[in-house]
Amino acid sequence: MAAWRRLAPGGGIGGGSTGVTGDRVTGDVATMVVVNIGQLVTGNPRLPAPGLVEDAVLAASGDRLIYAGPAAGLDVATGPETVEVDAHRAAVIPGFVDAHTHVVWLGERSEEYALRAAGASYEEIAEKGGGIRSTVAATAAGTLDELIAATRERARRMLRLGTTTVEVKSGYGQSLGAELRQLRAARALGEEADLPDVVTTYLPLHGLPDGDRAAYLEGVLGEGLPAAASLAGFVDCFCETGAWGVDECERLLVAARAHGLRAKVHADQRSHSGGSALAARVGAISADHLDHATDEDLRALAVAGVTGVLLPGASMVLGGPPPPGRRLLDAGATIALATDCNPGTCWCESMPLMVSLGVATAGLTPAEALLAATAGGAAALGLTDRGRLLPGLRCDALVLETPKWLDVGYHLGADPVSQVIVAGRLVRP
Ligand SMILES: [Zn+2]
Repeated sequence: MAAWRRLAPGGGIGGGSTGVTGDRVTGDVATMVVVNIGQLVTGNPRLPAPGLVEDAVLAASGDRLIYAGPAAGLDVATGPETVEVDAHRAAVIPGFVDAHTHVVWLGERSEEYALRAAGASYEEIAEKGGGIRSTVAATAAGTLDELIAATRERARRMLRLGTTTVEVKSGYGQSLGAELRQLRAARALGEEADLPDVVTTYLPLHGLPDGDRAAYLEGVLGEGLPAAASLAGFVDCFCETGAWGVDECERLLVAARAHGLRAKVHADQRSHSGGSALAARVGAISADHLDHATDEDLRALAVAGVTGVLLPGASMVLGGPPPPGRRLLDAGATIALATDCNPGTCWCESMPLMVSLGVATAGLTPAEALLAATAGGAAALGLTDRGRLLPGLRCDALVLETPKWLDVGYHLGADPVSQVIVAGRLVRP
């Protein structure tokens, strides 16, 4: 048993005011300890990548970590209510932060999947009324309860696979009421105890509307942004040839500032259409996809402090250039990996698979891919309280099935997660 002190009933150890000192927070009684960790991935850049500690222990008080380090160094107070989790020498890593999903949808597009496999392009299917249009028709007609029920199943799969925070976009409404309903569904799921924490993004410029696009955009600017501001933290746009142009997207992103919504951009996914340069110019928090971005674009993102979000599942399904993971790192940018979970181009809830694909297709090392799926995801959402296992941050952690953290990417298509801890609470025991 590790050398940590048990709190006698009625007694106390520490007791002073809480403060962060080195690798621990003093003064709190642990409500959870995870002992017997073979390899702990902290994400601490001062340690060997990816912030590795051998023979480690975690301790949390409430939702916050108060210790993450060598078992020999643990010195925290515990009490009769302290929950002890035995990792049995398995590895422990930060919970995944999936920073780009369209997980609220109704209907399904399996036939389209087969058509694409037979040679039809994404654009050809969209021109025939398939693609996003078919999802919009099904999703916009759904009730709030229907949206919540369909999405809950996907969110459960995400949690089982280790996602402890998920970003959820609207974008399948195209009327203000339907867009807001998707955001409300996402937020309702974020309130449920045994699901990932949820961050919401208003995505009004996604598929093209049936009517006058200029009138639609004016409606978004005049009514959509003020209404979405209380339900979302970010605004997003699909800046792409055949979808929304740079000028239209820029109007949206600039106008959104007055409503406190930070910018995200679906950038240079299907063609070099200017989304990356736009994201850098408006100071977006992230630019996502980037499959057709040039080195100059990537340098501009790095200089502007824009996180590049790689979506290797969508890249693989659609074909085309690989995600520019290595090129973004060479340019000096922060990178994230995310699922893009959506019914058209990547129905996938698995962040472990994205780590595998990040290594296999985006030129990342396993450590870089794991950090992109955790700390990088947090950066893409502006969340400074998670993504690494450091004292003072949220205790969102995964106990793996195996002793090696490398197995997350190495074991392709597996479920490597044994136990999930969200905000200091065991939710997948
Ligand atoms: Zn997307």
